[in-house]
Amino acid sequence: MPQNSFTAEYDAVVIGAGNGGLTAAATLAGKGMKTLLLEQHNLPGGFATSFVRGRFEFEPSLHEISDFGPAEDKGNVRKLLEDRIGLNVEWIRVPEAYRLIIPNEIGGKLDVVMPFGIDEFISKAEEYVPGSAPSVKKFIELCGEVVDALGYIAESKGNPDKKVLTGKYSNFLKTAPYTLQQVLDALKMPYLAQKIITAYWCYIGMDVKDVSFTIFGAMFHKYLTKGAYIPRYRSHGYTCALDMRIRELGGEIQYNTRVEKILTENGQIRGIETSHGDRIKTGLVVSNASPHLVYNKLIHPKSEVPDMAYKTCNARKVGFSAFVVYLGLDKSPEELGINEYSYFIYSTPDTNDIYKGFCTLNRPIGQATICLNNAIPDCSPQGTSIVSMTTLFTGDC
Ligand SMILES: Cc1cc2nc3c(=O)[nH]c(=O)nc-3n(C[C@H](O)[C@H](O)[C@H](O)COP(=O)(O)OP(=O)(O)OC[C@H]3O[C@@H](n4cnc5c(N)ncnc54)[C@H](O)[C@@H]3O)c2cc1C
Repeated sequence: MPQNSFTAEYDAVVIGAGNGGLTAAATLAGKGMKTLLLEQHNLPGGFATSFVRGRFEFEPSLHEISDFGPAEDKGNVRKLLEDRIGLNVEWIRVPEAYRLIIPNEIGGKLDVVMPFGIDEFISKAEEYVPGSAPSVKKFIELCGEVVDALGYIAESKGNPDKKVLTGKYSNFLKTAPYTLQQVLDALKMPYLAQKIITAYWCYIGMDVKDVSFTIFGAMFHKYLTKGAYIPRYRSHGYTCALDMRIRELGGEIQYNTRVEKILTENGQIRGIETSHGDRIKTGLVVSNASPHLVYNKLIHPKSEVPDMAYKTCNARKVGFSAFVVYLGLDKSPEELGINEYSYFIYSTPDTNDIYKGFCTLNRPIGQATICLNNAIPDCSPQGTSIVSMTTLFTGDC
């Protein structure tokens, strides 16, 4: 490849302006690197965006962001956005963890509203399921150890001291090979308390008999301890603010520009080629596009793709797709009797059956529903409300 065929040169090129690409570009620009962010769409955000229909501006995706936390007890996501990137936008705390509605095993209905906060969650579980507090408390303690252990492993950059792991995080090691259901059973948690505590399972997209306890436990504990947050002005608000922040930090952004090729030579990145035919020289590419796209289409020449990359991609299953009904309603939430922000509504208590239901093109038996007004009262004109109902589907069960 002749060196003079490049039209420009950057320290780093980021492919895609989704959450991942925007935060990567802001971080690189913040470190003083000459950074170019290229996005094929005409907007920043990827999934984190908004769309307008009539009087309503809908939030397409982010129901609640985990590991965010209040300003006085920041989670990792808030630390990244505010402390490291310097983003200054408004975030709203979601009022409750969730309302869960499922049929119970005796033909009635379990209908519970669960709060954030460890003590609050335990006492609410005890109120709904008397006698459940000790096992719920133990479960939350185990989840806390998982979070601490994962934090330690991250800090040690994948090279943890075995003595620390076995000494401080022995329950993390003991539970690591087990599923969520196995841990719940080992703790002898009452059946209905199990149903209440596992409501977030659909966020991971695996039923409780198959999902790793470690993965669920870390997510659950973050929601419980840090609460959940949403952007005040939909995801489009903060992704536009990130665009401005990247420019303030000296980064450059081009929309309507798809990266067609990542140019490589002798195992090294040399540059990229865009849909406009520009060839840009760089030694560092960060891709927000999926690994399948990077390894199957973008890396050029194909002979430079490492075998391990294909193996990693092929080892993966295709995740769930979301099917969402967005409703702009001409009644207020109070008039409609919608009192909570976040609802999980399942037609059967067995998550395995719901999971299998997500593999068929039939009427959904599980949904997550959000009423945005119950977190942001003025998100739609007075006397109206915004409700979104999400279910999942995959053809790769
Ligand atoms: C219905 C729904 C509900 C959700 N709810 C939540 C929630 O409550 N909480 C939560 O945390 N997450 C939620 N998510 C997930 C969350 O929205 C996504 O995980 C996140 O936004 C993905 O960000 P990303 O940067 O990884 O990828 P993406 O948003 O997919 O961004 C990738 C970007 O790269 C661009 N791109 C790709 N290829 C190229 C190329 N060759 N050249 C240039 N640009 C390219 C794309 O156009 C896109 O803008 C939800 C998702 C959905 C669909």
